[in-house]
Amino acid sequence: MTIREQLEERELEYLSPYAARSRESKGREKEETECDIRPVFQRDRDRILHCKAFRRLRQKTQVFLLPDGDHYRTRLTHTLEVSQNARTIAKALRLNEDLAEAIALGHDLGHTPFGHAGERALNKVYHFEHNVQSLRVVECLERHGRGLNLTWEVRDGILNHKTAGHPVTLEGCVVRLSDKIAYINHDIDDATRGGILTEDEIPKEIQRVLGASGKERLDTMVHDVIVNSMERPEIRMSGEVSQAMMDLRKFMFKNVYLNPKAKGEEMKAVHLVRQLFEYYAEHPEGMPEKYQSAIRAGKCEKEQIVCDFIAGMTDHYAVMKYGEIFVPQAWKN
Ligand code: MG
Repeated sequence: MTIREQLEERELEYLSPYAARSRESKGREKEETECDIRPVFQRDRDRILHCKAFRRLRQKTQVFLLPDGDHYRTRLTHTLEVSQNARTIAKALRLNEDLAEAIALGHDLGHTPFGHAGERALNKVYHFEHNVQSLRVVECLERHGRGLNLTWEVRDGILNHKTAGHPVTLEGCVVRLSDKIAYINHDIDDATRGGILTEDEIPKEIQRVLGASGKERLDTMVHDVIVNSMERPEIRMSGEVSQAMMDLRKFMFKNVYLNPKAKGEEMKAVHLVRQLFEYYAEHPEGMPEKYQSAIRAGKCEKEQIVCDFIAGMTDHYAVMKYGEIFVPQAWKN
């Protein structure tokens, strides 16, 4: 018996009846020889970690555009926090931790530069959603267009991680909730760091239910999900904590996500992304060869390929390209 087979056996004995089991995966688009060490979801996790789109998350905005401080979240540290929350919950519920981790690490791979400002800009000029793009990254953009050939369960979790999504596995549901828990909490921390918010401004009723510090609130939410999802075929929170979390999210929208101080630069980012889109749609020869050959292959619309190129950019690369195209050489310092 290989090590992988032993690990699969252990899953059958140990995991909750509601967990996704590696051996029962619906499998990959293209069949592959199994690894002798790692079950399928563990292998998928490693593939995502080693892909180029994952490394680019390091220089993509989470909420605050190109902040000067060293301690603001980026799309990469956000992804790691989602993964951490998801693994804690999955482990406590005896769900498949490898599957939850793989989905979490892959969920934002398709995110544009400049956070949701970039996403909105591309969605205005062409239909664009970052969860759909994340799936495109793993299915047909990575590995020179061959994709990562991930299992069905990981792809389902990535595609359905948004609030309105319905992942089929409980591990996918865990990631969907962990994403929300992560961003609400770390965005409060970053907003406090940026002088946009003080802890005292968070309404007292929310503080009473969730806690008065970031650590307490994160702890309350994670505990609440675990306690309320034990031995159940669903992932849920208690009414009280869930309501307080929704109220906190609303509070964040009003005070942080739509705050002119945090969003003051956003119009510039939207403009920049739109200009890049219009430029490359007219001058596809300015894109790297692989995108030009994708257009020639004619499998999807030219606009989609331009979106692939722009969504893949880091904030820095987008600004650099913008400078190259629109700013006269002599004016650049
Ligand atoms: Mg996310």
